[in-house]
Amino acid sequence: MPHSQPLHPTNGERVRLADYAPDFVGTYNKQSAQEVLDSNLARLRELQNVLYAEHKHAVLIILQGMDASGKDGTIRHVMRGINPQGVQVTSFKVPTAEELDHDFLWRIHQHTPGRGMIAIFNRSHYEDVLVVRVEELVPRSVWEARYEHINAFERLLADSGVTILKFFLHISKAEQKKRLEERLRLPEKRWKFAVGDLHVRQKWNDYMAAYEDALTRCNTPWAPWYIVPADRKWYRNLVISSVLVETLERLDMRYPSAEPGLERIIIPD
Ligand code: AMP
Ligand code: MG
Repeated sequence: MPHSQPLHPTNGERVRLADYAPDFVGTYNKQSAQEVLDSNLARLRELQNVLYAEHKHAVLIILQGMDASGKDGTIRHVMRGINPQGVQVTSFKVPTAEELDHDFLWRIHQHTPGRGMIAIFNRSHYEDVLVVRVEELVPRSVWEARYEHINAFERLLADSGVTILKFFLHISKAEQKKRLEERLRLPEKRWKFAVGDLHVRQKWNDYMAAYEDALTRCNTPWAPWYIVPADRKWYRNLVISSVLVETLERLDMRYPSAEPGLERIIIPD
């Protein structure tokens, strides 16, 4: 895929989101992107089938981004067509009292994918260094330690056969305004509007600073971050589907070999 804007920041390099244009679309337009998306989705279906059959690898897809950045839309458009039996989507909300009584990864770990499965996180443990940091829900010393906790946790998953992909859906503040206005206007979207989202929008710069830290400090070889230009939904879908296909291709999966002697079997009437 031609891409003159880096999609995956170099490991160890400080991420500055100002260097990443949210409206970047490379050489694509809506129509050419749609063609690639369609072929990616067809390939994805085949790859998922082998993933499930081989029962060796697991895949964890983490979606993070501001309100209206397209986390739900990505799940709808990119995961459409893959076998529901092999996918599990978890949306992480404000932690319950029981969850808060445990370490911050307790509720996360229960939803990591088993062999053969794809798990999608709509928000994730990253909220614990994003909203929790910006809103000062815990002292600095607590969230500061979490970057290392996260890296170690993701390392454990990777060492256990989980391929991790983390996507930051990068939208501009202006595009968010348009999308929130649309949410207010359209009855089928209004249910998603939370007045609290406006408070979060007001702290946009604080959130971007928190994202920059997470994208820098947790961009590891075993759990890479991708910074997805997300102002155009069609480009976002193209990028994420392409990364998914490329990553699954690299797993070099095989259907398990059949039981010996199947060629001699005759199914009785
Ligand atoms: P939504 O994604 O629109 O359903 O909203 C979920 C809300 O839960 C967002 O406002 C998140 O910031 C919030 N949330 C998710 N995880 C946490 C967390 N660990 N601590 C505090 N708030 C969280
Ligand atoms: Mg919301």
